[in-house]
Amino acid sequence: MANETDRELTGSDAPAPRPARPERSDGPHRPDDGSRRPYGPRKHFAPRRKVCRLCAEKIAQVDYKQVQIVKSFCTETGKMLSRRITGVCARHQRQVARAVKINRNLAILPYSV
Ligand SMILES: [Zn+2]
Repeated sequence: MANETDRELTGSDAPAPRPARPERSDGPHRPDDGSRRPYGPRKHFAPRRKVCRLCAEKIAQVDYKQVQIVKSFCTETGKMLSRRITGVCARHQRQVARAVKINRNLAILPYSV
């Protein structure tokens, strides 16, 4: 009897099999679709601190002849990358900027592509 009612209950109560929904973990707005942070100011900054690559490699003076290094601070179109992007310290950014300009003048690096 009990068994039958159980079966009946499950038979009538069984809803259509729902598509598996992911558990709501991050609220109604999820920032996963490419554009992060849909609205509002960001409360916390990422706790990542950029370290100057040149200081880490103990390159005291950036030479314009070190083209591989100097080139790595430029975009493909020949623009210098800003300190904000590369994370280089101010001292090294000045050296890099100078080296880029020298190399442009020597036609080692392009002014623009
Ligand atoms: Zn540095």
